[in-house]
Amino acid sequence: MKPLRQYGLQSERVLGVGKQPGVFEQEVSALEDRLMMTTLEKAIAWAQTKSMWPDTFGLACCAIEMMSIVSSRYDIARFGMEAFRSSPRQADLLIVSGRVVHKMAAPLRQIYDQMLEPKWVIAMGACASSGGMFNNYTTLQGVDKIVAVDIHVPGCPPRPEALMEGIVRLHEKVNAGIPPAYEIRGVAE
Ligand code: SF4
Repeated sequence: MKPLRQYGLQSERVLGVGKQPGVFEQEVSALEDRLMMTTLEKAIAWAQTKSMWPDTFGLACCAIEMMSIVSSRYDIARFGMEAFRSSPRQADLLIVSGRVVHKMAAPLRQIYDQMLEPKWVIAMGACASSGGMFNNYTTLQGVDKIVAVDIHVPGCPPRPEALMEGIVRLHEKVNAGIPPAYEIRGVAE
């Protein structure tokens, strides 16, 4: 797999201090901004980050935190994302908010399969990411066992600010040209 920097990712917070792009890269990037030069790929990525539509899908307590991101306090509309779609065929972002029991795994995977590509997945909270405190026979120990996860948001529950942080990180990845997780890691059969 290519290092993130080769995809053009410039976020210090993702790459770590001391691993920023070189001076030349920064100057070229600044020049591009000033001259409004861009590639079609970059323009498409920009448009995708400004029109990601999440699927209406909540599983447990984390879903309550997720619902609040459409409120005026967090205002997800500034990213053009306030339209939670009722059909997976109109959504390209699945926010898995809550624990996934084995009985729910098949419907979740069906929803994921019905979403159009490109599509992204955020595992919100400890339960969606790893099963959380529910280390038992009923609960899937991480939704990445059945779908390809792009962003994990830690916490129990993560505050809406943490989910917003995850969404901003996802936008950074898309803008940097990093392919969706299913293209990098594939999806379990
Ligand atoms: S991570 Fe915490 S808040 Fe979220 S679903 Fe699990 S128990 Fe509930």
